[in-house]
Amino acid sequence: MKRKGILIVVSGFSGTGKGTLMKQLVQSYDNYALSVSMTTRSPRPGEEEGKEYFFVSREEFVSQIKNDGLIEYASYCEHYYGTPRKYVEAELEAGRDVILEIEIQGALKVREKYPTALLLFVMPPNAAELRKRLEKRGTESPDIIRMRLERALEEAKGIEKYDFIVINDKLEECVRNMHSLIQAAHETPERNEELIDNIRKELKNICV
Ligand code: 5GP
Repeated sequence: MKRKGILIVVSGFSGTGKGTLMKQLVQSYDNYALSVSMTTRSPRPGEEEGKEYFFVSREEFVSQIKNDGLIEYASYCEHYYGTPRKYVEAELEAGRDVILEIEIQGALKVREKYPTALLLFVMPPNAAELRKRLEKRGTESPDIIRMRLERALEEAKGIEKYDFIVINDKLEECVRNMHSLIQAAHETPERNEELIDNIRKELKNICV
């Protein structure tokens, strides 16, 4: 029986290093596909169109919403972010696990639409480290850093809604840990309905 792909939602405060983690996960193991989101924010230095994000105008974003082109979207620190539908559905169909690196409002919408999605929350070892990482990145102004830290405080209220917490202290260890959690998630009964139905049918046939 062909193993179906599952949606892996990864959230975490801005500055926790989610992007690096996800890139490393996809490089280290086969069978993961990383979804590229659409956003109305401007590219940071070094970010490329279609790689980190599809950078679009507000008008283009609104038109994607109207055409049902996004599986979820949310507003974050005055910009829109959303997950394009086509790529995600095609990859899941092909049996790959699709990773969405999105914030909490979007994560909860995904859980409603895809009840078997796995929700992971990445945390820094402590809050001081988070601030240090945001400042070190050097791409945001002090005002924006403050806004992102306030947003982190807000997002921390929703951590219990996730399935697992992953602490990003040592990159390699964190990637291995995430991969193990995802592999374990594949084995739960709710993600194996077809397998369970089949064994029940087979047992029935044997018993008659
Ligand atoms: P950043 O501007 O730092 O790249 O992203 C800001 C926040 O938006 C992060 O928490 C990131 O996970 C989230 N984000 C990125 N893409 C999406 C998306 O497609 N949908 C939602 N809901 N959030 C997203």
